[in-house]
Amino acid sequence: MISPVLPSYSRANLSFVKGEGSWLIEADGRRFLDFASGIAVMSLGHGHPKVVGALIDQANALWHTSNLYEVPQQQALADRLVEHTFADTIFFCNSGTEAAELAIKMARKYRTVTGAPDRMTILTFEGGFHGRSTGAISAAASEKLSAGFGPLLPGFRLLPFGDHDALRDAASAPDVGAIMVEPIQGEGGIRPLPDQCLKGLRDLCDEHGLLLILDEIQCGMGRTGKLFAHEWAGITPDIMLVAKGIGGGFPLGALLATEEVARGMTAGTHGSTYGGNPLGCAVGGAVIDVITADGFLDAVNAKAGFLRQKLEGLVASHPDIFEGVRGHGLMLGIKCKIPPGEVVAAGYAQAVLTVPAADNILRILPALTITEDEISEGISRLDAAASALENRASAE
Ligand SMILES: *Cc1c(COP(=O)(O)O)cnc(C)c1O
Repeated sequence: MISPVLPSYSRANLSFVKGEGSWLIEADGRRFLDFASGIAVMSLGHGHPKVVGALIDQANALWHTSNLYEVPQQQALADRLVEHTFADTIFFCNSGTEAAELAIKMARKYRTVTGAPDRMTILTFEGGFHGRSTGAISAAASEKLSAGFGPLLPGFRLLPFGDHDALRDAASAPDVGAIMVEPIQGEGGIRPLPDQCLKGLRDLCDEHGLLLILDEIQCGMGRTGKLFAHEWAGITPDIMLVAKGIGGGFPLGALLATEEVARGMTAGTHGSTYGGNPLGCAVGGAVIDVITADGFLDAVNAKAGFLRQKLEGLVASHPDIFEGVRGHGLMLGIKCKIPPGEVVAAGYAQAVLTVPAADNILRILPALTITEDEISEGISRLDAAASALENRASAE
């Protein structure tokens, strides 16, 4: 079928008409167990009553005014985020990429207003992902993201992942002003920075006066069992990027920062027509209320332990397909011995949804609200998918 949609995605031949919690349903009624969550977006599953209720109430009251006026829902969500994080100040936008763009601008502006305009370089890491804008692909700078889109934005220095010596050298260079990193690489293949390394990064930033910019767009909002992944390491960033899970499916992103680092961002320096609109902020408020409610993250941690144990069992039963589990909380990856896209496709045949990532990883990103029974069901479907792949191999 010829489609007028730009073919920049290779899509599976699946389409859903309804979502219920951890389930997606096709028009013919076939139910898929959702271990993908729209790539870590549907943090509270499909159709969560509090989230839907917040959207409907706000839709009935008021959709959009403008950032020319006060937006009380935006204020309320900012208050909630400040209460639960290191941040003093927040800018709302509509996507992760927009948050990453602002982080780059803010880090540069900070150097300008503090009289260090020669410290514009931002260190980034191989396998990183910060979005698809020119700035974001320049930051991540992989061939896959950036081929043919040059000239890229200058001002980034890409470092190998896990090379401490290279990092130490680069951090002391006089032109460097910031480090931008995901606490757990998502697209790069569920590669966590160990807590010790995150602490080390914070120390290095303090030693050299660098800003630590954490991209928690995929790993934040409860996914690792804390509200934000860096909390496990007991450190705080200077700037943090949030999107995906915070909107629970509504396009919403945010940049959180300390007052000091944001000091150059005065009236007129940045903006967004839709950023912080009443609909998105009402939904974000409902999402954060649920995630920060007493006991919610404890339950996520319990489920995460259960899922991990099940995945270890799955890997052990299919040694020709899988080789190990990594990640944290409900952000897990299975290292595959075959292209992970083949496992994803075999999963479709068993009505379970997963996401491939770089480094031969199959991503498992369930809703934070998934039940243990649903986890077990998803695992048995993946088990059937892996068996089908083994039978295919032995028939060849
Ligand atoms: C998805 C993602 C982005 C980009 O977010 P969009 O909302 O797609 O613009 C940036 N960084 C990370 C870590 C992501 O996972």
